[in-house]
Order: sequence, then C-alpha cells, then structure tokens
Amino acid sequence: MARLHSGVLVHYHEISLKRGNRPLFLRQLTRNLARAVSDVGPVQLRQLSGRILLDLDGNERPETVRDRAARVCGVASVALAWRVESTLDAMKAAVAHVIEGRRFASFRISARRAFKTYPMTSVEINRELGAFVLERVGREYTRVDLHDAELEIHVEVLPAETFVYVHAAPGPGGLPVGASGVVAALLSGGIDSPVAAWRMMKRGCRVVFVHFHSVPYLPATSQAKARALVERLTEWQYRSDLLLVPLGEIQREVVLAVPPPLRVVVYRRMMIRIAQALARPVGALALATGESVGQVASQTLHNIARIDEVAEMPVLRPLIGMDKLEITGEAQRLGTFEISIEPDADCCTLFVPRHPATRVSTDEVREAEARLDLSRLVGMGVDGARLESFEFPPVPVNA
Ligand code: ATP
Ligand code: MG
Repeated sequence: MARLHSGVLVHYHEISLKRGNRPLFLRQLTRNLARAVSDVGPVQLRQLSGRILLDLDGNERPETVRDRAARVCGVASVALAWRVESTLDAMKAAVAHVIEGRRFASFRISARRAFKTYPMTSVEINRELGAFVLERVGREYTRVDLHDAELEIHVEVLPAETFVYVHAAPGPGGLPVGASGVVAALLSGGIDSPVAAWRMMKRGCRVVFVHFHSVPYLPATSQAKARALVERLTEWQYRSDLLLVPLGEIQREVVLAVPPPLRVVVYRRMMIRIAQALARPVGALALATGESVGQVASQTLHNIARIDEVAEMPVLRPLIGMDKLEITGEAQRLGTFEISIEPDADCCTLFVPRHPATRVSTDEVREAEARLDLSRLVGMGVDGARLESFEFPPVPVNA
C-alpha cells in the first residue's frame, strides 16, 4: 500500500482576488500561519498552487494544528488531509483509509484538478473512485448521492501529490493580519469594542488597543478586563500592544466645567484626541470604535458627528449597522463575551449624567470645551499612557 502522509490543507479565497498584491498577501498569510502553529511541533509550510500546505510529517498534534490554522484571518477553510502520489492507485489507498470504520448510507466523490494536464478529468476520477468505494463498502450499504451525500470525499489533484479529506472547517475569511496597515482600536470593557477590533483584524489590520481607565477614582477592574480581552484577541494577531490611559483626572476637570448633558460627548472627544495622539507615533492610520447607530445616547448620528469633528484621522466603526443581538453572537463566537459581561466600573460610569443629550450641537460643545485647557488635558492622557504587550502563542520564559 502507498505510504500515507498527512497535512493541513489551507484554502484562501479573497486573497486570490488581489492581483497586484497577491505575493505580499500570501507571504503575510504564510507568516501568520507559521506563527499560529509555532508551538505545536514540527510543521513545514509549503505554498502550492492556490493553497498552502502545512506538512505534518513527524507532528503529533494534527488537530491542534488544524484548529490553529482555522483561526488565521485570510483562511477560507482548512482540512486535515491525507497526501499521496497523484496516481489512481495511491488515491484509492487514501480513500480506503478515510472511509475505514465509517458508516454512510450515501456519499459522493468531489475531485478537483489544480492542473489541467492530468491524464484523467475530474469526472473520470469521480467515477473511478466512486466505483471503488461502492465495491469496498458494498452496494447494499451505501449509494452515490450527488446532492445530499452523508459523506463527501474531497480529492484535490496537484502535480506532485493529491490530497484526500472528508471534512473542511471554515476559517474566518478576510485578509491576513498585517496586510492592511495599523489601526488603533478604542477598547472599553464592554461587549462591542472587542468585536469591532476583531473585525478590523479580519480585514487585515494590525490592531493597537487603547483603553481609558479611571484609576484611582475607580478600581482597576476595567484594566484587568481590557488585558483579558486583549489576551484573547491576540490569538488572532499573535502580538498586541495595549495602551492604558488614565482618564479620571480629565473627567474630574470636565465635571467642573461642562454641564451634565454634554459630558458624555466631551469625554468621547477627549478619548478621540488622546487616542489619535497615541496612534500617530505607532504608525496607525485610523481609529476604530465599537459604536453602532442609536445604541446609546452618545451614538446618535448627531453625537457621532460631534465626535468626528475632533478626529484628524478616519474613525472606523465596523459595527455601525449591526444590532446588539448580532454583536453579542459574534462576541460569543470569539470568546470575548464572557470577559465583557464580568461586572466592572467602566470609566464611562464615572461622572456620567442620568440624561445625556442626544443632539449636541457643534456650538454647544465648542462653548463647553472653551472652558477647558484642552492641550494640557490631552497631554495628561498621552503622558500618562502605559504600554503592555501580549504574545500568542505565549513566548517561553527562557526564549
Ligand atoms: P462597548 O460595548 O464597546 O463598551 P458601548 O455600547 O458601551 O460600547 P459606549 O460606552 O458609548 O458604547 O462606547 C462607544 C465606544 O467608545 C466603544 O465601543 C469604545 O470603542 C469606545 N470606548 C468607550 N469607553 C471606552 C474606554 N473606557 N476605553 C476605550 N474606549 C472606550
Ligand atoms: Mg461601554
């Protein structure tokens, strides 16, 4: 019998649309895949035509390699596959291997050729291997069903070898992190902003996190939540920076000068000013927030407009059209939800009026801010920022 090797076969889709930048995107995807599996035994990466192979020869944790690869942005799907020579006999051996011990009332073979000079067409391969399965399992136990098969056996024929697998798990899709530049995401301890940050990663952005806290006016729980969220999100970008920015003193001065209904908008404008001052030196080209239209008082179109008036770089809001249920579902899938719902005293619960204005005008907010020493306050936030870094997989202590 032909010797069987295993591997994780990675498909990508959107990357293949990016003609000019394709080598660059592929290089980034390969680098990210290598990083994602760097602590799970030997894995050799190979770029094949239209796919990437993670060669598992000598690797004892194939499922872990597959699961890690399934979370890399830019990946459309991953499959744990058997690799054999591109001969019909070798394909049969691999098919025999994958159906071993399985019961299935119906099946189909889905063959694909990555090069068209192979002597058999995919239809012919389907026929040959289908007949082989019927014979091996017995016609009384299984049948071919092209539309609703219980078991689909994928056969991908490449020049040097053929891959056979039965289950492909979906990846996140999108683009590889690092391919689209840097974004500074405003991360609260809430449900929305971690999802927003992840959405930016999925579009290929490297995210730098900015969290505002109110220590010593409030306990440090919001920072602990921000750390836990960044730790989780780092599983998608492998290395993260988190900037922890003190806002409490700034809020205290705002409270002394600004009428209650305007304060939330003023806090947000301060956050934007400080975040962009921190974003520029780290090379970020845009900010990102977890806002969605109308969700709370600060997120009316009027107030979003007031917030954007102080922005000197684009403020991206990937959740703008989503409702809370959709966002919550995504947070659960990402595993950030459990962290976000931990009770905490967010800086926005400090000095927040009961009835924030939903239609703050430009003149009102300007007039209120004229009573503040804005550049000193922004400087306080920027100078008070503390940087923490996170790695995934965690770096061994003696590395
Ligand atoms: P979230 O669930 O992300 O907290 P939210 O629905 O509570 O959002 P707001 O409190 O109005 O909405 O916050 C809107 C956005 O402002 C957040 O999504 C986040 O991007 C940013 N933001 C709010 N508070 C903070 C904070 N303490 N630190 C950093 N960014 C913040
Ligand atoms: Mg919040």
